[in-house]
Amino acid sequence: MQTQILGLVTPLMVLFFAATFVVLWRVGRMKRHVLGYGIAFALSAVGYLITHLLPADTFYLFHTTQLFYTLGTTAMLVSVCERAGQRLHLGSMAVVYLISALLLTVAVSFSNDVGARLIIVNMGYGVMFAMGVTTLLNARRRTVIDVAIIAVMAFQAADFLVRPTLTLLFEQTIPAEVYRDSIYYSLIGLVLGVKGVTTATVLIGATIDEWTTSLRESSELDALSGLRNRGAFEESIRSHLDRAQKEQRALSLVVADIDHFKKVNDIWGHQAGDQAIAGIGKLIREMVRGCDTAGRIGGEEFCVAIWNCPNDAAVQLADRIRLAFEDLQHDSLSNDVRLTASFGVATAHGGETYEQLFGRADAALYRAKSNGRNRVENAGDDHLEEPVPKTKSELIEFKRASG
Ligand code: GH3
Ligand code: MG
Ligand code: MG
Repeated sequence: MQTQILGLVTPLMVLFFAATFVVLWRVGRMKRHVLGYGIAFALSAVGYLITHLLPADTFYLFHTTQLFYTLGTTAMLVSVCERAGQRLHLGSMAVVYLISALLLTVAVSFSNDVGARLIIVNMGYGVMFAMGVTTLLNARRRTVIDVAIIAVMAFQAADFLVRPTLTLLFEQTIPAEVYRDSIYYSLIGLVLGVKGVTTATVLIGATIDEWTTSLRESSELDALSGLRNRGAFEESIRSHLDRAQKEQRALSLVVADIDHFKKVNDIWGHQAGDQAIAGIGKLIREMVRGCDTAGRIGGEEFCVAIWNCPNDAAVQLADRIRLAFEDLQHDSLSNDVRLTASFGVATAHGGETYEQLFGRADAALYRAKSNGRNRVENAGDDHLEEPVPKTKSELIEFKRASG
């Protein structure tokens, strides 16, 4: 009776972990792999409850628990692989499952000894975890948390592949009727508990890390354009600039400003203006790479830091964005109305600060405005220019031109 009750500790603990992941997934609005961890823990707990509560000598016991453990293992591996941006090969998992299910049927039919059955099913799980580890190793990103997850999965693989054979060296035969009194069975409760706690701890840590990262990222985003807000953009470009200088890579900056935007607000209203800002934000997000950084640095002003990009390629990108924006239809404006934007481009010189680089790109943008708008101007090898008009007549001319 006491053993029966103690044996419930591990599955109940695993069920508690399952519930924890479901709550984290719901409350944190996390991606579906977090729900996947919950499902994996729940399936494994059910598998263990079946082993523990059903009569040990039934023919279907091993098949049913094997099915639940396999589904749990698959859900776990699919989820950790999805988190790492990798896809687990489900066909291979199914082949491993079918082979071990077949061998299990043979073993159950020919012998009353549980030892062979245990080795067959555990080898199957071991191979599955090993396949998961191989898939995880394909991911290029490798943070401390990624390494911890790989280590936990490798520990699972090693445990399943080695433990059954090692335990059975001490206990050569286990007749099905006395399975629950065997050393193997006492050990399995402990091992499952330790593996459950280790895996859950690492995955809860990974989930909390993803949660805080997504909270930080959303606080750094400008809600209207979906680009970074000014503070986050400047912080990011400063570190990009440092890195570019250390690694001797080209870093180019594109500054854009929507033309005659005040008129948009005046004619169609502020909400229409907001939708135009959202439109160009979406366009920029779609047209830059993941390694670039784009931000909304003012009302209708945007800036893109293009990583590892020489000056001529940056000018071409700016022109592609210009043409795409010129073609963009805005639902909130009249059908035949298109907006345009002006662009300034500069590529960092060695030792240049962000302020200097931005100053040159902004000066080029000012030139694009005064040269007729809807165009790209390149700072090229310019040295820092004064971006604001200096004489009173220039100022009057500027105000007149911009309407
Ligand atoms: P230019 O071609 O010289 O850039 O002319 P412009 O009218 O675009 O320039 P200006 O900078 O004078 O006007 C920008 C306008 O953008 C002024 C402001 O009302 C508007 N604006 C700034 N932020 C927002 C915003 O978040 N939403 C909307 N709808 N308008 C904004
Ligand atoms: Mg403008
Ligand atoms: Mg402006």
